[in-house]
Amino acid sequence: AKKQGGNQVVIYNEEISKAKNKKLQIEARLRKAIKNEEIEVYYQPKIDARTEVLTGVEALLRWTDEELGFVPPDVFIAIAEEAGLIHPLWEIAMKKASSQITSWNKDRARPLSLAVNFSAKQFQDPCSLVKQVKEILSEYQLAPNLFEIEITESTLLFNTKETTRALETLQEFGISISIDDFGTGYSSFSYLKTLPINTLKIDRSFIQDIKEDHSNSEIAEAIINLARSLKLHVIAEGVEEDYQKEFLLKHDCYHMQGYLYSKPLSKEEFERVWV
Ligand code: C2E
Ligand code: CA
Ligand code: CA
Ligand code: CA
Repeated sequence: AKKQGGNQVVIYNEEISKAKNKKLQIEARLRKAIKNEEIEVYYQPKIDARTEVLTGVEALLRWTDEELGFVPPDVFIAIAEEAGLIHPLWEIAMKKASSQITSWNKDRARPLSLAVNFSAKQFQDPCSLVKQVKEILSEYQLAPNLFEIEITESTLLFNTKETTRALETLQEFGISISIDDFGTGYSSFSYLKTLPINTLKIDRSFIQDIKEDHSNSEIAEAIINLARSLKLHVIAEGVEEDYQKEFLLKHDCYHMQGYLYSKPLSKEEFERVWV
């Protein structure tokens, strides 16, 4: 038994060092990709399902590396956060997407809004973050009321005072604040009373099996009611099927995002289909 245990430790260590190497490799390639501007922005439509009108987009980063192939965003975002690379990635998303939306909006009667994901790590220096957001929007001529910040509840758990002040400043400036993956993060909703929040974004796990899983539909409904009573907007993500859309419409949640309407698209694809 002793010997077996020893072998397990060896295997375990090997697994760990393999995983570490992989991470280091991704990190190194990511640095290079940032430097060579190989990171793309994809756009996923946000729809008002009552009228099927396109109201805005969420910017999502995409990276395909020569050596590694396609690396999923969850994977490289997590590594970027640890390696101190989240800020340059964010700058890419901000700049590319803002300039793209401004250009699309030139030909539109109803301007599109832009949502960008912000990582909790970025609120470690809230003052310079606020400053830079304002600078980028002004440089790319995107009106603050067309700009939306998506943060998860974990952002609100850390350095609350400064984070709150930063979010307040951004909101006063006209920017909307959305809580992404709502319902998955934090067990107490007391922050909803004190923090400057505009929108709850129902996590797709609650949308996924609305039909089979009764408790999921109850949760989705509860979030919609919560938003209503707090006078917040609500949007559902991960809407893939008609029955999900119908359920949401029936409960007065009409802003939607998901494969039912479109997966995230490159700017060329988005232009062809939606502009
Ligand atoms: P997220 O912010 O929750 O983004 C939504 C994710 O759900 C996206 O995955 C999107 O492609 C996917 N999705 C959209 N509609 C559907 C659907 O109907 N069904 C299913 N199954 N999935 C759907 P993606 O693009 O792989 O991004 C994963 C995560 O990576 C994002 O989750 C976000 O947390 C992070 N991420 C992506 N881009 C950025 C970024 O620029 N900055 C930061 N901080 N995080 C980012
Ligand atoms: Ca998001
Ligand atoms: Ca989400
Ligand atoms: Ca997510």
